[in-house]
Amino acid sequence: MLKVAHSSSYAHALPPGHRFPMEKYSLLPEQLIYEGTLTEDHFFIPELLDERWILNTHDSAYFYRLKDLELTRSEIRATGFPLSQELVEREIQIASGSVQAAVFALDHGIGMNIAGGTHHAFSDRGEGFCLLNDLAITANYLLENNLAKRILIVDLDVHQGNGTAQIFQHRMDVFTFSMHGAKNYPHRKEKSHLDIGLPDGTGDEVYLNLLEQNLFSIFTTFYPDFILYQCGVDVLGTDQLGRLNMSQIGVKMRDELVLSNAKSREIPIMCCMGGGYSKQIKVIIDAHAQVFRLAQSLYG
Ligand SMILES: [Zn+2]
Repeated sequence: MLKVAHSSSYAHALPPGHRFPMEKYSLLPEQLIYEGTLTEDHFFIPELLDERWILNTHDSAYFYRLKDLELTRSEIRATGFPLSQELVEREIQIASGSVQAAVFALDHGIGMNIAGGTHHAFSDRGEGFCLLNDLAITANYLLENNLAKRILIVDLDVHQGNGTAQIFQHRMDVFTFSMHGAKNYPHRKEKSHLDIGLPDGTGDEVYLNLLEQNLFSIFTTFYPDFILYQCGVDVLGTDQLGRLNMSQIGVKMRDELVLSNAKSREIPIMCCMGGGYSKQIKVIIDAHAQVFRLAQSLYG
């Protein structure tokens, strides 16, 4: 059975009216249960990861200053969040959820996280709503425990996975692939192993063709034995931060391309949610929900 990590949402940790759509993390599971895609039994609350697995990726000085709420004012500003104990705990729980969903995927083909994809966290700093990099923590955990040898990170959030790129820039056993808006945040891009920067207004056809070609070339040259998938839905035309022009069907086809490649090549995959900032929460939930529906139809 599909297992989905679900961290407590700590919606109260953000002041009212904060622009980050925290409510999606509680509305999405509700929707998935309501429509019959998942039941309560599919969800698990992650057990908190031993700190050593965080320190495997993050600089200890940064992590302890974060944990002790001692970041400087400008460091806090860069994260986009008001720093609080709840937010730090939530971020640790999210990273724990990605690790546990990935371990689950080793036996069942797929594991998922309601949250995660915090790809703007660098080894020694956070930014863009990301404090700890769950993708990097998970990749390092799998490698260190000999659970994988060659990890592909497919980052299809509209924003470049700059933190992930920085963390793995000199590594040969982790391949970072980011397809993102060329003109979008972050304005100073890091170097992933493969970056595809898309012009504003890119739509389904161009996007899907590029994705298909590049996935094929990665699979036939890098030969990953594990995939971490950041499936942000801020590529939608309706997204307030996105600048691309994908449709809901296009996003579904995108996820289908990644998941069906993983399944047919028998490579375990862990999916984490990433961004989504459409004006209507219904649009965000529906776009995120479809990757869970897809996972159930392919693997359920
Ligand atoms: Zn994003």
